[in-house]
Amino acid sequence: MRFEIVTIFPEFFTSIFENGILRRALAEGLVSVGVHDLRAFTHDRHRTVDDRPFGGGEGMVLKPEPLAEALASLGIQPKAARQKGPQAADSISSEGGGGFNPRIKPQSIGALAPEEKLVIEPVLYQGTTLQLAEKLEIEPVLCQGTTLVVPQMQQQERGALATEGSYSEKSPSRPHVILLSAQGRPFTQAMARELAATERVVLICGRYEGVDERVNELYCDMELSIGDYVLSGGELAAAVVVDATMRLVPGVLGNEASGDFESFGVADAEIAAADDGVPRSQHGAGGLLDYPHYTRPAEFGGLRVPETLLNGDHAQIRRWRREQQLRKTLANRPDLLEGAALSKEDRKLLESIRQEIG
Ligand code: SAH
Repeated sequence: MRFEIVTIFPEFFTSIFENGILRRALAEGLVSVGVHDLRAFTHDRHRTVDDRPFGGGEGMVLKPEPLAEALASLGIQPKAARQKGPQAADSISSEGGGGFNPRIKPQSIGALAPEEKLVIEPVLYQGTTLQLAEKLEIEPVLCQGTTLVVPQMQQQERGALATEGSYSEKSPSRPHVILLSAQGRPFTQAMARELAATERVVLICGRYEGVDERVNELYCDMELSIGDYVLSGGELAAAVVVDATMRLVPGVLGNEASGDFESFGVADAEIAAADDGVPRSQHGAGGLLDYPHYTRPAEFGGLRVPETLLNGDHAQIRRWRREQQLRKTLANRPDLLEGAALSKEDRKLLESIRQEIG
């Protein structure tokens, strides 16, 4: 996947892409980023990107013309013109309920073993109307009622579609254009997952009092906020979106599954007791916050690592971790409990924690 960032401070991003997971992901070509200097799209001596607000008031506003030119240089037309073109096929969702909705016969769902690959014959994707020209194999699939959940769609499979299938030729994926804004929809892990499955995402960084609203109206698919506070520019917000999204692109994290098993992870598909009697919900985060982590030494600052983690009993460890998730979520983010996938055992545990803390 590729991010295009439009900013008046391109140098802001240098250090962000030179460290850690993002640096490795970029070096390995799993993801790519283009940073575009908005001032390169001005034509006056002072390279002016801002102007005074109509109607008066404090501060300056980013002018629409340089932004429109910057977007045009990335091949992005106003939305109205785009909609006349071929239907977009960019919103393949890695979770049920999104645009990824293959038609397969019910009996082939029933026949799937947990580790078996799902094979989709050439098919029409509903919603995003993606015509699949060839057979596609997808990694383990979970079945939630009538919804298919594909945990990870492999990078190479999408790549193969783009080069060989009709995916890019007949239904070119169009970029998702996002305006960073304190007035936007709140950015969440679920959105990061959606973006990670999108081929190209354009981020427009505002400055001063913001961006001329017509840029939003004409070009943007979404206004995105990273939280209920006002930053001095969209660059920090863009960096947050890029970081949270890129680590979810298949192959970027060392362990493919780890994105699912941390705070705000995907909900467990099945709340049922596994063979070992441990509710399945304890294997994943299920929409809860993560459990606490410990490493060596076993004793530090007078505090010992919880005994359960040292004894090697994995069923007990899973239970302990699930309890910690419930405790932490109840303490710090009780709002998440409403949407979390909780087993009967979880609910009992939660009740006793509630009674314990009064
Ligand atoms: N007048 C605006 C704030 C402008 S701050 C208001 O009251 O809403 C300047 C720029 O910083 C914005 O255009 C936006 O791009 C960015 N920004 C500020 N807060 C943000 C937030 N919480 N999330 C995302 N971007 C933000």
